[in-house]
Amino acid sequence: MNLISTRVAEQLQGGSWIRRMFEAGAALKKQYGEDAVCDFSLGNPDVPAPAVVGECLRKIADCATEPLAFGYMPNAGFPWAREQLAAHLSKEQGLPLTGNDVLLTCGAAGGLNVIFRTVLEMGDEVLAIAPYFVEYGAYVGNHGGTLKTVPSTPDFLPDLTALEAAMNKRTRALIINSPNNPTGQVYGEAELRALADLLTRKSQEFGRPIYLVSDEPYRFLTYDGATVPAVLPLYPYTILASSFSKNLSLPGERIGYLALSSNLKGREQLMAGLILANRVLGFVNPPVIGQQLMAAALGAQVDASVYARRREAIVNVLRDTGYEFLTPKGAFYIFPKAPGGDDVAFVNGPLLREKILAVPGSGFAGPGYFRIAFCIDEAVIHRSAEGFKRALKGA
Ligand code: PLP
Repeated sequence: MNLISTRVAEQLQGGSWIRRMFEAGAALKKQYGEDAVCDFSLGNPDVPAPAVVGECLRKIADCATEPLAFGYMPNAGFPWAREQLAAHLSKEQGLPLTGNDVLLTCGAAGGLNVIFRTVLEMGDEVLAIAPYFVEYGAYVGNHGGTLKTVPSTPDFLPDLTALEAAMNKRTRALIINSPNNPTGQVYGEAELRALADLLTRKSQEFGRPIYLVSDEPYRFLTYDGATVPAVLPLYPYTILASSFSKNLSLPGERIGYLALSSNLKGREQLMAGLILANRVLGFVNPPVIGQQLMAAALGAQVDASVYARRREAIVNVLRDTGYEFLTPKGAFYIFPKAPGGDDVAFVNGPLLREKILAVPGSGFAGPGYFRIAFCIDEAVIHRSAEGFKRALKGA
């Protein structure tokens, strides 16, 4: 007897490489002890939240027993929280946004599901530039769409020719993620403008807007002076999706948002659809505590210099041991070439034997590479050097 749907059964069967590596890591840690394992498999931000988060929580605690302190609210979030976020984003994006242009969501993941629930017809296609965050396939599939993968250029930037070739009447959105998980690449203004031009042209040709979904939870984290250009002013059909999971180290609190461009005429209808989707998907409204933390901490962030030091440490380890990679410009991932070319074999063979956990690039539609998440203690990164060296020799 089937207890679950065929689709979910297939998803379970496919599993995710991140989860598989997590399980392999748990077994290794049990056998050899935590300190023997160098676990680069999970992007769980471990830098402490800024002090303002603790101060705000103490204030929330003082009011916790007031009537309706944790009551239901409008499905888009508290109006005051939307207003404050809009004021913050107006500065960041260089556009005059109001509270009605933003929607508070259960993380970026919740927000992306809300977008696809709102704009996709059955059979619509969403383009993703490979390699990409592996959950996109599920988020699009949840709402009757198909994720269509388009390769990037060799340095992980959008390949306009490949993107144009992949577009057709069913193309409803292109999802981008900069700074990127898993590559650490950051798109510049020229790349984004070229994408906007292509989408404008193709939307006109097909007679329906192709949305640019810009998933940017790592916007705050760039290196060597790299900047993340504002996307909302570049293209009216942009939907910005982001969260406070990484910049405030609050991923378990599930607070994120969507924002629309004030250049989009008639966006009230789109926002009404997004708010409805937030409700009917069962998110109902974003968490009370998350919204309060967000509002108190707007403009604050974790100490990014910790990530910068770790990035330098892992870059040195990989360079000194002879790996090939692009130095990440942002986020806390690095995506080196898998020695020998077979990422699954390398990660599960030579690397695992050294008790180093990483994720095969195949898990991100990027075979031939592997992902290292460097949101772990710098001492572990230094400790991994010998293991990386031996793994390269053993490949
Ligand atoms: N998008 C990307 C690229 C991510 O890496 C993640 C989480 O790792 C998410 C979205 C989901 O973030 P959130 O915790 O805000 O749902």
